[in-house]
Amino acid sequence: MSGFSPTEVAFLMAATMQAVAAVVWAIGAWVWSVAEVRRAILHWSAYAGLSALTWTLLALALQSPPLVSILSGVAAALILQRGIRIFIGRPVSWSRSWIPLVVVAAAYALAENPATRPLQVGINFGVIGWIYGVTALELHAHARDEMQLRLPWLLAMPLALGSLAFLSRAARAVLAPDSVATEMTTHSGLNVASAFSYLVLVMVMHSTLAALVVHRLVGQLRRLSRHDALTGLYNRHAMQEALDLQLHRSRRAGDRFSVLMFDLDHFKLINDSFGHAVGDQALQHVAGVMLRGLRDVDRLARFGGEEFLALLPGLDAAQALALAERIRQAVATERGPQLAPGIGLSVSVGVAEWHGPAEEISRLLVRADAALYTAKRLGRDRVVSAGLASA
Ligand code: GH3
Ligand code: MG
Ligand code: MG
Repeated sequence: MSGFSPTEVAFLMAATMQAVAAVVWAIGAWVWSVAEVRRAILHWSAYAGLSALTWTLLALALQSPPLVSILSGVAAALILQRGIRIFIGRPVSWSRSWIPLVVVAAAYALAENPATRPLQVGINFGVIGWIYGVTALELHAHARDEMQLRLPWLLAMPLALGSLAFLSRAARAVLAPDSVATEMTTHSGLNVASAFSYLVLVMVMHSTLAALVVHRLVGQLRRLSRHDALTGLYNRHAMQEALDLQLHRSRRAGDRFSVLMFDLDHFKLINDSFGHAVGDQALQHVAGVMLRGLRDVDRLARFGGEEFLALLPGLDAAQALALAERIRQAVATERGPQLAPGIGLSVSVGVAEWHGPAEEISRLLVRADAALYTAKRLGRDRVVSAGLASA
């Protein structure tokens, strides 16, 4: 190690860390199956790889960094920004990316002359600081508006701090030109300190990017665990939770609510005559028709194969019956692009209003099911209220 100065060792450590990060992200991209996330992760791998290259070149030639090290440093920032834009769903294009590269390449000519060298350093760090700053603002807006985080600035902080560090170095180069010559020597305590600060910052930034990915993954898992894959409606589990919550509220506040139990009529016939795929499309169509017939506050779940359950807060049996009747008619009459020609659909519905604090959800559902059974028995394509069913 005797051949390396502390600055060089610190820079090589930064390079090593970024090289490891590049490999880890590359593996992540390899195992990830969602195209959009994989594209972003590949960019972050490229960003880390280019940063590793930059730090290595700087460690080897600190006094006169070659143009390629400066270009790779700026390209790294651009690719990091592009990866984040892809991840947060902003439009990306290469068309304006060349501008910062051309600016720093043109400014490189200034490095020849000691008198203009500080300006070159200022432009170089200024451009990188600018890219980081813009990206920090975009990430902040995403964290605030899309992710609705309580502390959105926390997510943008590593990028914002990086931006400030680069911009302050640019300002120092321009305002105190003498600082450049001293900082470009290999025995500079400042260089070691800034390389270590960079290490910490980059570690936090990679963690932030990883946190973004985990947040997205948890969101997807949560969605998958609560929704039916075919229709996009709530699944039985999510509906059970909604019913329990409603029961809790209604027992406390006394609000009434009703449920509708739907079952498609002779659905097996549709599968048998048109095939299972057409049956699936019919289920998707019916889910849409039912959703459009309900209010915003209502919940609709696919409760079983071709059975659906709606929770109607605030409605008594008569109001729920009227709503169910409108949906029954819509199912019988509405056509749609998902519905193959020649398919006739109808639905039978059981309506039940919650009887009051003594009644459990299971009992309410048994009554709705009994009403549905009566609707089937009476000839299908009709709505029966639990009051009638038990009469
Ligand atoms: P009924 O009027 O008495 O309800 O008659 P039905 O044929 O609808 O009743 P049954 O319970 O005998 O059959 C329900 C059918 O729903 C059987 C099954 O093939 C079909 N089914 C259940 N889940 C799905 C699904 O996810 N996709 C498709 N295509 N069909 C499904
Ligand atoms: Mg059924
Ligand atoms: Mg059926």
